[in-house]
Amino acid sequence: MPAVILKQGREKSLLRRHPWIFSGAIHHVDDEPASGGTVDLLTFNKQFLARASYSPHSQIRARVWTFEDEPVDKEFFRKRIRASLATRYELKVEHNINAARLIYAESDHLPGLIVDRYGDVLVLQSLTAGSEYWKETITDLLLEETGLENIYERSDADVRELEGLEQKVGSLRGTIPQSQLTIYEHGLKFLINIEHGHKTGFYLDQCRNRLRVRELAQDKDVLDCFCYTGGFTINALAGGAKSVLSVDSSEEALALAKENIVLNTLPVDKSDFIEGDVFQLLRKFRDENRSFDMIILDPPKFAPTAAQAERAARGYKDINLLAFKLLRPGGILVTFSCSGGIDAGLFQKIIAGAALDANVDAQIVEHLSQNADHPVSLHFPEGAYLKGLICYKQHSA
Ligand code: SAH
Repeated sequence: MPAVILKQGREKSLLRRHPWIFSGAIHHVDDEPASGGTVDLLTFNKQFLARASYSPHSQIRARVWTFEDEPVDKEFFRKRIRASLATRYELKVEHNINAARLIYAESDHLPGLIVDRYGDVLVLQSLTAGSEYWKETITDLLLEETGLENIYERSDADVRELEGLEQKVGSLRGTIPQSQLTIYEHGLKFLINIEHGHKTGFYLDQCRNRLRVRELAQDKDVLDCFCYTGGFTINALAGGAKSVLSVDSSEEALALAKENIVLNTLPVDKSDFIEGDVFQLLRKFRDENRSFDMIILDPPKFAPTAAQAERAARGYKDINLLAFKLLRPGGILVTFSCSGGIDAGLFQKIIAGAALDANVDAQIVEHLSQNADHPVSLHFPEGAYLKGLICYKQHSA
């Protein structure tokens, strides 16, 4: 077995069960392993620490499969996949829903591997050399363990470049599914485009938060910013919103959002769509003195890493400040950040700054996060990326 020998004292993060080894922690490598091949991680004194996949092109040079001295083979992956499926089953994440994230990479001790289920189709995303090395085995196991027949690959994320991997998209097993699938979530239906949609097709991470919006939307004039295919829009309408105005810059996303309204036989006359830039539109609405009872802000990732945090913070502050101004007293702001580089504490500070500069008194009434099918291992806090706040704009004293 090829081995990676760490520099003296650089085993500390592994002893805390963090699964990554950066190139700078490595003293030397014995028997140059294949890209994605399995290596032993050893202390400087050659003591066993973990068994990992090797990524020769990445700064994250190794990712741990197991901290036990056990073989990494087909049966190992079967055990891991079974454990992931069991967690979802026990947490009832698929109760009233037929779409969910079944495997969430490092959080499920399967670095680099994401598997989402949309009805009877699985969508697999392989992000690292290690998950790529085992992809065929894992694909077979997924079929065996779920009893499903179709797996589609969406390995078209930019991070693959860091691993020296090309983008790959297409059917892995079974027939290529119709490009548009329908899933259901808490009594509502959504059209999913697994070939061209964002991520693997849908923002599964917002599932429970969509339900919360449904509960709060009754009789409200709602503004859904960055609406994509209408996840929050459809829930607000289903919750009895008086009106919903939905904004996104993507024409295709808006087309699907409109179809989703019809699919759910929701009132088309209460909904309106604008294709445009949220930053500009919020300014325009401010200048026109428009107001809303509920505003949802679910922007794309402004800061993938901490290095871009400052610029991202300005972006978040800008849209949240404008949203606070557009809210009527007693109005509700549902605001999110999916930037890994901005943690929950910083996000709350940014929102507080936005309220201050908008001259608004507001309360946090709820903290939101990613759905239970996107768990966060306590040993891998990087798995937490989605944070949200529900803020209530107080009536002036
Ligand atoms: N709320 C959605 C997910 C939003 S993803 C849901 O729950 O399904 C972010 C969306 O923002 C994408 O659809 C993208 O097209 C859109 N977007 C990105 N930049 C934008 C901008 N400046 N103005 C408007 N929409 C934008």
